[in-house]
Amino acid sequence: MKPHSTSEPDSEMNHKADYSEFFRWPLQKPEYLQALIKAYESGDWGRYHGQNCQTLVEVISRYFERSFVRLCSSGTIAVEIALKAAGVKVGDEVILSAYDFPGNFRCIESIGAIPVLADIMPGTWSISYDSVVEAYGSKTKAIIVSHLHGDIAPIELISAFAKNKEIKIIEDICQCPGATFNSMKLGTFGDIATLSFGGSKLLTAGRGGAIVMKSEADFQRSKIYSDRGNDAFPLSELQASILLPQFDQLNAVNELRFKAAKLMMERFSHCGQINTLKISAKSQPAFFKLPIFLSPSNDQHVNDFNNSKEQLIRVLQAKKIKIDHGFPGFANRSSKRCRKVSDLRETARLAKSTLILHHPCLLSNAVETIADEIIDASKQV
Ligand SMILES: *Cc1c(COP(=O)(O)O)cnc(C)c1O
Repeated sequence: MKPHSTSEPDSEMNHKADYSEFFRWPLQKPEYLQALIKAYESGDWGRYHGQNCQTLVEVISRYFERSFVRLCSSGTIAVEIALKAAGVKVGDEVILSAYDFPGNFRCIESIGAIPVLADIMPGTWSISYDSVVEAYGSKTKAIIVSHLHGDIAPIELISAFAKNKEIKIIEDICQCPGATFNSMKLGTFGDIATLSFGGSKLLTAGRGGAIVMKSEADFQRSKIYSDRGNDAFPLSELQASILLPQFDQLNAVNELRFKAAKLMMERFSHCGQINTLKISAKSQPAFFKLPIFLSPSNDQHVNDFNNSKEQLIRVLQAKKIKIDHGFPGFANRSSKRCRKVSDLRETARLAKSTLILHHPCLLSNAVETIADEIIDASKQV
């Protein structure tokens, strides 16, 4: 099925294909509007402390079965507060994946701690357990474990490794609220979880975030760090109001996205050049971005490969398909700013070849058509 059914011939339509409507975000739903109207009518929209933020804290607390939740202004700030809550101090080391959200590196630096880069597991977007073990040292105070692009990091192994040591695990679940592994929600394996409510994220208020904590001592530290006579990193009542209905629907919508992602991945699996996620039977992922990576053909020079990747992005973006590069990763960061456990070869390789497809199309009826467009374009370049 092609978008915009018109009477024009197929080739003409291909030429004009415009998939923008399948990437429209945020969703517009009557429940969201109702929530905003309610916040308006009650006057909560003009208050520092109203019912919506309080209810949202309770909803998140119930959802993750954690007693301590703090709302904040963004996912990036959530990671920074989480590091402070974990007791990370100037000169301490924090392990993170060399393939991660750029802000996570900066958050560690911003509090005067030292990022220690671990490599990823080959063929995945996740931090390698072996590399974490290698990175661990006497100065390690925390490990940031991000679950990225629908992939699930080896969080059970890493938590077990941290268990009898003086280190805290921060699980970055900004991309995957509601995802589970072994029927347990991601974010509940570690000590602290971070959420983002940014404009493109699965739960969105345009901006915003939250920190979900197991220990009261961590919660107290998060409060002290954020308190400057007032909450320095607040989430507003209006933001909280529009997040509440989204939490109600999160599991159901995640399920739909997962089904659609499986359809796409099934299509890609028949096409030699496009590789994607391997999903274990124990995983119920949530898709913020659907990742693919291209394999260079045997005789292809690296420059030719890069050119064809750039061309693939251009061809698809011309059709308003929202596909882009993955994270650049930190493999090339100066060793003055961080410690590296190895040459970070896997990260460097993956960062060069990853493309990510934005999630809104997973809720559309054009999933298979878009998958076919990606496959066709990959054959042309
Ligand atoms: C988006 C994102 C963040 C930061 O969230 P913002 O709300 O945009 O600051 C942190 N970590 C990961 C993995 C993300 O995808």
